[in-house]
Amino acid sequence: LDRMRTAASRTRESLSTSLDSVLALGRTVDEDTLEELEAVLLTADLGVTTTNEVIGNLRARALREKADAAELKGLLREELQRILDSVQQPTDHPAQAPEVIMMVGVNGTGKTTTSGKLAALYGTHGRRALLCAADTFRAAAIEQLEVWAKRSNVDVIKTRQGGDPSAALYDALTAGKARGVDIVIVDTAGRLHNKAGLMAELDKMRRTAEKLVPGAPHQTFLVMDATTGQNGLQQARLFLESARVSGIVLTKLDGTAKGGVVLAIARELKLPVVFVGVGEKMEDILPFNSDNFLTSLLG
Ligand code: GDP
Repeated sequence: LDRMRTAASRTRESLSTSLDSVLALGRTVDEDTLEELEAVLLTADLGVTTTNEVIGNLRARALREKADAAELKGLLREELQRILDSVQQPTDHPAQAPEVIMMVGVNGTGKTTTSGKLAALYGTHGRRALLCAADTFRAAAIEQLEVWAKRSNVDVIKTRQGGDPSAALYDALTAGKARGVDIVIVDTAGRLHNKAGLMAELDKMRRTAEKLVPGAPHQTFLVMDATTGQNGLQQARLFLESARVSGIVLTKLDGTAKGGVVLAIARELKLPVVFVGVGEKMEDILPFNSDNFLTSLLG
């Protein structure tokens, strides 16, 4: 919680400070206030669509309820909460192990790192994970995942670089069932230059998973780099077409003042942020909590 506060406090420094100046005490809410607020939300990376909607709703409510500046902040929090509540966090684990979690996303967003962090995090909750190195495309991705596996004290199943990711997945699921692990976390390749190829690959992996484990993949997490903001959102859409994404992992929240992208993700991609990455170390991953997030964001 503290680390999420620290990470999000960068956002807060910009958003909360500007909010406080926009919503200075005693100020009556008028069109100027709303315009300044709009600029603040855009700076925090809520994006145009989400910002317009929030400001539109606030305008109607502030006038109707004759809100003063302090009340406007409360209304803003309610509006943002409603956006976060409009997307459902993924539900419980499947009755039958192993749970299969696929990590997808553009290269460099943090898929391999997040796979390793998640294996360790689940381990602390008594759920034994197995890592699957199915990013056979990016040089060094397999070795990098092996380093994470060692750190997280879990096994990794791999194939050679350039090999078939579905073959690695097949081996991992077979091993996972034989070893009785609780979760198999699958690190996939994020090549973007060939959309048809990416789609075919993810599709083949999904069919392989379905064949070996009923209901798999149970979760597909799209990994997004928070520092890429609205561009990341554009890239994400491509994956939404190719993979049945169930949630977002938002990485590098420690390096940006633009945490507002969480709201754009909920509003525009209709997906929940499930975990946030707040650094490069093993423990730098946190389950997303909307209350804590809004408190960090708005102060
Ligand atoms: P992949 O290509 O998607 O597998 O990305 P990697 O897992 O290799 O991560 C790319 C870079 O981002 C690495 O240098 C990671 O250490 C770094 N990284 C990943 N997650 C985070 C995070 O939450 N915060 C910070 N600061 N760096 C991160």
